Amino acid sequence: MANASVTALVNRRNVAAALQAARVECEQYQAWLTALNKAALNLEACSWQFDGEVLRIASASSSSTRYTVTPQGCGCKAHQAGRPCWHRAARRLLCKAAELAPAPSKSMAELQAAVDELFS
Ligand SMILES: [Zn+2]
Repeated sequence: MANASVTALVNRRNVAAALQAARVECEQYQAWLTALNKAALNLEACSWQFDGEVLRIASASSSSTRYTVTPQGCGCKAHQAGRPCWHRAARRLLCKAAELAPAPSKSMAELQAAVDELFS
């Protein structure tokens, strides 16, 4: 998925829906629940960029520190120590939010082209 389209798909409503689903998924894991709740708060408070794969996000305690979060992990101390961190929870939330977004609707021209192709 292209970077621009991922960013367009991630909005407050999708993140809220993703958060709701994620809370259910990890209700047995208190440490992840805590990380998720912190992620939801800090996605509002901290600056971040997400390209659909890699999340770059400012530390909540020091805005001059930025963490790079990939599917493999995170550069923060908590993750290095093997603990759940809110940065990874935030990345997961954004991935889920993008998945929950409806497919972009087609323009009339695209629909007409599809119809033309069907009956040509
Ligand atoms: Zn982290």
